Amino acid sequence: EAARSSMRSGVILYDLTSVVEELVFNSLDAGATKVSVFVGVGTCYAKVVDDGFGITRDGLVLVGERYATSKFDHSPETDSASGSFGFRGEALASISDVSLLEILTKASGRPNGYRKVMKGCKCLYLGIDDDRKDVGTTVVVRDLFYNQPVRRKYMQSSPKKVLHAVIKCVHRIALVHSKVSFKLIDIESEDELLRTISSPSPLALLKRTVGIEVSTALHELNISDGKIELSGYISSPCNSLAIKAFQYVYINSRFICKGPIHKLLNQLASNFECWDPGKDVDVSLNMKRSRPQSLPAYFLNLSCPQSLYDLTFEPSKTYVEF
Ligand code: ADP
Ligand code: MG
Repeated sequence: EAARSSMRSGVILYDLTSVVEELVFNSLDAGATKVSVFVGVGTCYAKVVDDGFGITRDGLVLVGERYATSKFDHSPETDSASGSFGFRGEALASISDVSLLEILTKASGRPNGYRKVMKGCKCLYLGIDDDRKDVGTTVVVRDLFYNQPVRRKYMQSSPKKVLHAVIKCVHRIALVHSKVSFKLIDIESEDELLRTISSPSPLALLKRTVGIEVSTALHELNISDGKIELSGYISSPCNSLAIKAFQYVYINSRFICKGPIHKLLNQLASNFECWDPGKDVDVSLNMKRSRPQSLPAYFLNLSCPQSLYDLTFEPSKTYVEF
């Protein structure tokens, strides 16, 4: 049993952060404007509350079954940039395999809310939730990794590290979803770890969350050829540590780990003065090149057809291959 669930959940769930990330992505896919995240590392707990469009009873019957997804229109073959985060119907199934999972939901336009409880990927309960009045979904994950003692112990042994990773994860998602309000609370210390309120422009949000030094140095960027669009903010290369630390790249709003794209951007920016826009830029990467002294800060989102890239080379889905 443990080996089976470890194989399955290993695909996408390493820790509390990946659980939170998957739940928040589901909330965003449901069009939420408010997402509240509650975590407890010691108790291996996560709860995500959203005001998205909710799940109907018929939908809820299938939710948590492996490969059950309502997002099949957005398969990776789709040639559109506006896909959803989910498409494989694996997250809730994997989570229910390694925890006690509870889903409380009410779909818009429906009279009743419903509650489903799952454990070990089996449905323990599904019925009307009389207490549920508001449209939206709450997903509660209890006893995470109850059947994977090593993973559980590893997670519990470094609560600060885990919380830090969760904060970073929610922050990265919040930055690129400036119209959504996010809240992150540690239920054990009752500390509010993060709060963002809906901002009309990403810059207003960046100003509040990344500090004035970085945000004042940023220039807006918006380039599109009709199919591929690059938007966001970039600073001139400089030596400020705060600025250098702020190098964020997203593809279709999904955060990308530091890698070749960042190296390329840094290289291009450090050669900025000798860059002739009329000429083709040599984008071949010479990794042996010495690290440039002065680097830009950037917050860039590339919107492009999903068929142009693959994020699933690596389980964390933060490495991209074009
Ligand atoms: P995927 O996101 O790839 O479809 P998941 O396992 O994450 O797979 O979710 C399964 C399904 O459950 C989703 O397709 C969606 O229909 C439903 N769902 C999950 N979370 C929510 C939510 N917060 N709001 C509305 N529907 C949700
Ligand atoms: Mg999902």
